[in-house]
Amino acid sequence: MTRHCGYAAIVGRPNVGKSTLLNHLLGQKLSITSRKPQTTRHNMLGIKTEGDYQIIFVDTPGIHPARDKAINRYMNRSAESAMRDVDVIVFVVDRDRWTRGDELVVRQLQNSHSPIIIVLNKVDRMDDKDSLLPQITRLSELLEDSECIPVSALRGINLDGLEDSIKAHLPAGDFYFSEQQLTDKSERFIAAEMIREKITRQLGAELPYQTMVEIEEFKQEGKICNISALILVEREGQKRIIIGDKGQRLKAIGAQARADIERMLECQVMLNLWVKVKSGWSDDERALRSLGYQDSL
Ligand code: GDP
Ligand code: MG
Repeated sequence: MTRHCGYAAIVGRPNVGKSTLLNHLLGQKLSITSRKPQTTRHNMLGIKTEGDYQIIFVDTPGIHPARDKAINRYMNRSAESAMRDVDVIVFVVDRDRWTRGDELVVRQLQNSHSPIIIVLNKVDRMDDKDSLLPQITRLSELLEDSECIPVSALRGINLDGLEDSIKAHLPAGDFYFSEQQLTDKSERFIAAEMIREKITRQLGAELPYQTMVEIEEFKQEGKICNISALILVEREGQKRIIIGDKGQRLKAIGAQARADIERMLECQVMLNLWVKVKSGWSDDERALRSLGYQDSL
């Protein structure tokens, strides 16, 4: 049996159902809703490994109505490079609805050389499926050689068919990620950033010059995501500041960060925070645990 592995980009204007689709394809909610502009080529959204297939879902830099042509060209160039390396593009539209947003995405796609699967989403909201036909005609004229698949991301209609089409485009090759991995480090990274943000908010001017947050564990178990994070500081005094009187400050940081991370992951989170001075202090974890610095459910 040959393994297949590759990248599938999910594109489409806002609100067509990309996140919903992704969550259902992955079988769990992992979507990140707000993201800072990325310098990387792809934002990885999730990994689905099943049998001999591994699909790595990514999204590409978003597009916004450009004001002049130079900007337009620039955006097309960057979008093109962003899509160059994907094995298949999943272009999501909302039934027969068509807006300028869709048109901008299409323009982007016309510069891409990757195969395109057009997903006509939200068909559960249509009484008359025939009204999809003009849309299908239009899209196949705009994007030649593309394939149209009507689905309902929300109700799970025809998602297996979509998945089969995606798999058909994946090249033969070994998996890039372990079979257990559901997402890449970017969620870990964002979780770490969220914790850092709460430290900043809690401490204000007292903020230690250098605080690092290291995610040590990031594991989904059933409906709960277990996260352990280490807050690294440079000096003992800084550690005391972050922990606060009777650990109150660390607890507040943990509670706020957990709320954010739960919102991002859309699942329950068990967040354990530890503070550690970078050099030495081998007994820290045990000491902190005994003080009750465990922010759990
Ligand atoms: P995104 O901006 O493209 O990621 O879109 P979302 O996934 O956030 O979905 C936008 C809205 O459309 C949400 O309210 C979803 O519940 C809804 N939605 C997504 N897919 C479907 C679908 O298949 N059927 C219906 N009825 N609603 C859907
Ligand atoms: Mg979304």
